[in-house]
Amino acid sequence: MPNKIIILPDSVSNKIAAGEVIERPASVLKELLENSLDAGASNINILIESAGIKLISVADDGCGMSPDDSLLCIEPHATSKLSTAEDLNNISTFGFRGEALPSIASVSKFRLRTRNSDAEEGSEIYVDGGKIIEAKPVGCAKGTEISVRELFFNVPARRKFLHSLQTEEKHIIELIYTIAIANFAVSFNFHCDGKNIFRSPASETMKPRIIEFFGKSYMNGLTEVEYEESGIEIYGFTAKHGITRASRREQRIFVNGRPAESPVVFAAIKDAYASIIPAGRYPPVILFIKTNPIRVDVNVHPAKKEVRFREPALFRNAIEKAIREALRNSQSSSVNLSSQIPLKQLLNASLVNYDADEKEKKRNIENNILPGLEILPQQKINELATEEKTSQTPKISTQISTEERFPHLRIIGNLDSTYILASCSDGLVIIDQHAAHERILFEKILSASQKKDEVFQKLLIPVTIELSGAEIQFITKNSDEFKKLGFEFENFGGNTVIVRSIPIIFQQDNVVSLIHDIIDRFSSEGLAKATPVDIAKKACKFAVKAHDDLKTPEIENLIQQLSSCEMPFCCPHGRPTIINISHSELKRRFGRT
Ligand code: ADP
Ligand code: MG
Repeated sequence: MPNKIIILPDSVSNKIAAGEVIERPASVLKELLENSLDAGASNINILIESAGIKLISVADDGCGMSPDDSLLCIEPHATSKLSTAEDLNNISTFGFRGEALPSIASVSKFRLRTRNSDAEEGSEIYVDGGKIIEAKPVGCAKGTEISVRELFFNVPARRKFLHSLQTEEKHIIELIYTIAIANFAVSFNFHCDGKNIFRSPASETMKPRIIEFFGKSYMNGLTEVEYEESGIEIYGFTAKHGITRASRREQRIFVNGRPAESPVVFAAIKDAYASIIPAGRYPPVILFIKTNPIRVDVNVHPAKKEVRFREPALFRNAIEKAIREALRNSQSSSVNLSSQIPLKQLLNASLVNYDADEKEKKRNIENNILPGLEILPQQKINELATEEKTSQTPKISTQISTEERFPHLRIIGNLDSTYILASCSDGLVIIDQHAAHERILFEKILSASQKKDEVFQKLLIPVTIELSGAEIQFITKNSDEFKKLGFEFENFGGNTVIVRSIPIIFQQDNVVSLIHDIIDRFSSEGLAKATPVDIAKKACKFAVKAHDDLKTPEIENLIQQLSSCEMPFCCPHGRPTIINISHSELKRRFGRT
């Protein structure tokens, strides 16, 4: 990119999001790194001393600047990256404000050395708290090196607001990781307080960098995202089910390569995980969204931290779909619970007696067998396995509807009328029957509304319910959301509502408890605005309770239905529905290895 810096006319500079660019050492580093990347650098060297307060230096082998430009670049609104107001709508460089270098140079002791390929000599400029002290020719390599010393030396108030060196250093390291991951084709070398922290060569993919910075097990907790829709490319990595964090800090999002906070992306991630992680937890992601720059407004935040999509709903929807698809795929590949014997065949052929009578239970206890736990004799298991292997025309179809990703289970029994015990090719499987039922109901409630199936079930006899004023308000405020799922209410005046319909999957004889149950669960959270997903999450709680004694066909049915869920492995509130204790874990626990 040939550098030709101009000073933006007021008509353009007035349209640029104004405000503080340099809050802390990491913001200086961000601007310098972005400039090096915009200059097409292949190698970037970073030096930091005392968390960047003493020194931040970035040296690159990019296009460099002419002597004229080296003087211009520290003027306000001086940039080579745009010239007209229209250009602001179509920005494909990191920089565009022409504000970073003058801002940095005004609060530090600043030295610039630069040479472009046309020039035989480079230029060196010293600026001290905004004043040019010296400008002279210098012999230097092609590229640019900027050193920023004693940040905020002339604005003690700002310096006072900095956090501990440790915190500032953390921000710096996080920033370098983020930028280096996104720009994996550029080699980075980073020294901090004289120590080499890393030297990371250019790579063809970002995976090696993620592993280098965050470790192999971090990488293993992520699954790949690759999706394209309406000119929106979404790729990167997203947390596998069960991997969450207490904050959003590890949601690294890049829009056209720019690290950016975007409420739309955060919302899409939240929606995609809505039914599989508990409230207040955040899945780590490294997500890249690539699209025509014209569809993104980057001129929103002075430090360019935020971006705005011009079609937010379209982007949100595509990102949510991308993540959901990745999660679905990851379930099929990561669940290593497969089996030789199809679930249905075993269920139908099962000889297990789940209704052991009291006497039988007592005998089990006396024989030191866990109460309620019946064991399929090994001989029978062997017989079934042989039958399956040798049979030409199996009596029971092996074309079970369960998807491949779900383990084929052999039911062993149940524990405390709460957990279903089963075995699969990789050891013992324990299913929480309540959590499983919640997941099934949740998906049924939601899918009915999404598919616009007949979701309503008109009540033969409408039911009236007394609620508090706040509860009535809540129902009224969210009537559209309730209606999407099949709940129809009518105000009867005072504190009474009439329930006209409920979702088709609930029985009509329990309507009062169902509605009270849902509203109570919302009440404890303050009766805020609800989404259909929120409502479905509450409604599905009206599931079989732990300690419900399920009969064999009910267990079979439960497992069948769970297996065809989109996200079978956790309840909508994020608890697991299934846990697996592998053969190797059993061996280890029994000291067999
Ligand atoms: P912006 O990046 O918004 O244009 P800056 O103040 O960051 O504004 O930089 C001003 C100009 O200085 C840039 O437009 C670019 O032309 C030049 N510049 C800054 N850093 C470099 C660099 N590392 N290599 C080449 N040119 C640079
Ligand atoms: Mg810049």
